[in-house]
Amino acid sequence: MKSKEIRSAFFEFFKSKQHIVVPSAPMVIKDDPTLMFTNAGMNQFKEFFLGNSEPKNTRVTDTQKCLRVSGKHNDLEEVGMDTYHHTMFEMVGNWSFGDYFKEEAIAWSWELLTDVFKIDKDKLYVTIFEGDKSEGLDRDTEAYNFWKQHIAEDRILNGNKNDNFWEMGEQGPCGPCSEIHVDIRSDEEKAKVSGAELVNADHPQVVEIWNLVFMQYNRKANGSLEKLPAQHVDTGMGFERLCMVLQEKQSNYDTDVFTPLIREIEAITNTKYGKDEEKDIAIRVISDHVRAVAFSIADGQLPSNTGAGYVIRRILRRAIRYGFTFLDKKEPFIYKLTDTLVKQMGDTFPELVSEKNLIINVIREEEQSFLRTLDQGLVLLENVISSASSKTISGKKAFELYDTYGFPIDLTALILRERGYNLNEKEFESELKKQKDRSRAATKVETGDWVVLHEDDVEEFVGYDTLETQVKITRYRKVESKKEGELYQLVFNLTPFYAEGGGQIGDKGYLEASDGEVVYIIDTKKENNLIIHFAKNLPRNPESSFKAVVNTQHRSNTASNHTATHLLHQGLRNVLGDHVAQKGSLVHNKYLRFDFSHFSKVSDEELKQVEDFVNARIHENLALQEQRGIPYQQAIDEGAVALFGEKYGDAVRTIRFGNSMELCGGTHVPNTGNIWHFIITSESSVASGIRRIEAITGEFAKNYFIDRSNEYAEIKKTLNAQNPVKAVSNLQEENATLQKQIQELLKDKAKNLKGELKNELETVNGINFLAKEVDLDASGMKDLAFEMGGEIDNLFILFGSKQNGKALLTCYISKELAADKDLNAGQIVRELGKHIQGGGGGQPFFATAGGKNPEGINEAISKAKGYIS
Ligand code: ATP
Ligand code: MG
Repeated sequence: MKSKEIRSAFFEFFKSKQHIVVPSAPMVIKDDPTLMFTNAGMNQFKEFFLGNSEPKNTRVTDTQKCLRVSGKHNDLEEVGMDTYHHTMFEMVGNWSFGDYFKEEAIAWSWELLTDVFKIDKDKLYVTIFEGDKSEGLDRDTEAYNFWKQHIAEDRILNGNKNDNFWEMGEQGPCGPCSEIHVDIRSDEEKAKVSGAELVNADHPQVVEIWNLVFMQYNRKANGSLEKLPAQHVDTGMGFERLCMVLQEKQSNYDTDVFTPLIREIEAITNTKYGKDEEKDIAIRVISDHVRAVAFSIADGQLPSNTGAGYVIRRILRRAIRYGFTFLDKKEPFIYKLTDTLVKQMGDTFPELVSEKNLIINVIREEEQSFLRTLDQGLVLLENVISSASSKTISGKKAFELYDTYGFPIDLTALILRERGYNLNEKEFESELKKQKDRSRAATKVETGDWVVLHEDDVEEFVGYDTLETQVKITRYRKVESKKEGELYQLVFNLTPFYAEGGGQIGDKGYLEASDGEVVYIIDTKKENNLIIHFAKNLPRNPESSFKAVVNTQHRSNTASNHTATHLLHQGLRNVLGDHVAQKGSLVHNKYLRFDFSHFSKVSDEELKQVEDFVNARIHENLALQEQRGIPYQQAIDEGAVALFGEKYGDAVRTIRFGNSMELCGGTHVPNTGNIWHFIITSESSVASGIRRIEAITGEFAKNYFIDRSNEYAEIKKTLNAQNPVKAVSNLQEENATLQKQIQELLKDKAKNLKGELKNELETVNGINFLAKEVDLDASGMKDLAFEMGGEIDNLFILFGSKQNGKALLTCYISKELAADKDLNAGQIVRELGKHIQGGGGGQPFFATAGGKNPEGINEAISKAKGYIS
């Protein structure tokens, strides 16, 4: 079976069990502060497990793009070394949200693997949770009893809390799990060691393929467990591992998921996979990492210096570095794999197709710049080696190379080894740890348990229609971080506060109690679909009811920028073309920032056209036309613009102003006229093929004009002119004339000086000698000396000069004279330079020195004759 067929067979099977197939969520997570990347199929359903929202379907199935390179799941260092861990992989799974539980989950997984996929039952083992005394948890005999209806009891193994008790995080839903492992070794090997002994022992041919999680508890902040009101099933199977088993391969990289990429790498690098272990690792690393990087760029996450972007940059750099060291690729080449990847996976993940050019450009540019870094790093490392006092290089130095220049530590170690040096790895590790501890301490957040005040189902957002409403706090918790100190997070039964999302910042405002007490809401954010209001303190009577009031000024400024963002998007497509796609957006109350794909700098003329376009829409007073809760497909059919990397539900909201129509959850002005005016304040590049525009609207645009107009008045006053443009151009003209006159005067002065100096020449031992202080700068002295040298043979000159409180010496000796008498101007200025407390040098016939002691010039001049007498 081809991988494509395997994927669809999985879906077909669960469809036959009444599951709905849902799309993969983006790999890059935007609304969960605890997670940067999707690392398991269940991430996108967290809100259902936590009870924050109601699922529309209680049985769903999908394939989820996962990335395991940071946080709790970090497989990065394994990838390439082994044959079954990837950075980015597909996790196929089935879910029950309070619907079926262990019995069905176990029976169906077995039916799919053994009946549909026909995996030999003798290859399979399953594990169940053995219980844990310290937690007061019993063995999962329920699961055991269901399994033994399908599989021999000696193939059901006990697993400890580490492997068989799954937790979402430090807090939240958790429960026992059952894993399915497959033994793909040869019969011969199986006869030697039983597979049961190799389960969970990191054997590359006895691997876990599927994990069935049974969520039945909730972990509280104090560590204790309580039973969940509704029980859920969360299963995840590694798609590439499943393909390995079904295609009867020994490695994920031998399946058709990877072979096209590997063939391409072989062709580009002129190597053969499977001949040399080091090269094989490099090829696996590159074929794996290019997927992770391409998928994340398609999801809108570009490599950068911070956060998720930095993680992506590191993955790509790891691939470049393996190519550099083991495949001898010193030129960009990874970007060339994009075509193959898109051909192979574009059907299932269409975002790869539409973002192909961007992926190619971004990867190529990153490759170029990192290869430059490697070059520079090699030079720096050379310096470290040549100045080393022993054969062990300090870990601090290596850390500096790593931290400041991004030079990979394994490369440092390798090069040092090749050169017969050691790296003090302990010292490096300790520097690294220090840095990690610092950043961990800075970002650590202590989160308390939710305190429930009122039972409620789903928190409702009413802020599109009203900015003020009566609310109750349904629950709150305390959070503490170094950065923000102690804060309270409040959840309401309903709320007018918009939570940060879709690029738009969260609302601010306050709660007012009936006794007049006011508690400020300083920010609003979303976490797993829960709207969380941040306050510095709790109200005195948190259980009572409050008037919740959004800061209208803040909201309307933000709304103005959001609507302007839509118009800008439309304007850019209009002026630059349909290739323009939104790549990032920040809608602030003070300004807006918009990143978009475009291959070159936007010219001033184009910017002007875009600005005019947006202002024309503003002056048309276009009224907001909004649709809520319409089906996604209908919105798209009506022409709404959707963004890649954004997670849309089945029912969406559309925002329309004239011909601009977008899927959007943000807040907008009722009429474009409310924006007043739109001004682009900057245009720049963010990455290859991505431009950034910043702009302002409303009162900020008004203030911009007021400031400019004040400046203008100031300029008129300073110039004392009614027409400052004319006045400035007059000044420029006048200035040019003066410059010319000065040049001429200087020339005259030099001519006169030359005449005077010629008269002062002395003959010493047949040499035309002159030593004198002159009022010329370095280049003036040089010109004069060379001019005199052109006219007079056998010449020796020493000029001294005082310029800006510093001393200068210039020595000129005719070439023949220098050669005949073995004189060296460089040597002479170095010696005479001591008198002016400085140094210098040059050639035998011309040299200069500078120093900080002008008092010594006379002394130097008086010593000059000594060199020829
Ligand atoms: P392992 O012990 O092999 O690292 P895991 O316990 O981390 O696996 P789970 O978190 O249970 O795995 O994930 C569910 C399934 O996803 C696994 O059974 C496996 O098939 C697959 N999987 C996990 N990590 C990776 C990875 N890095 N690359 C490819 N597939 C993976
Ligand atoms: Mg793992």
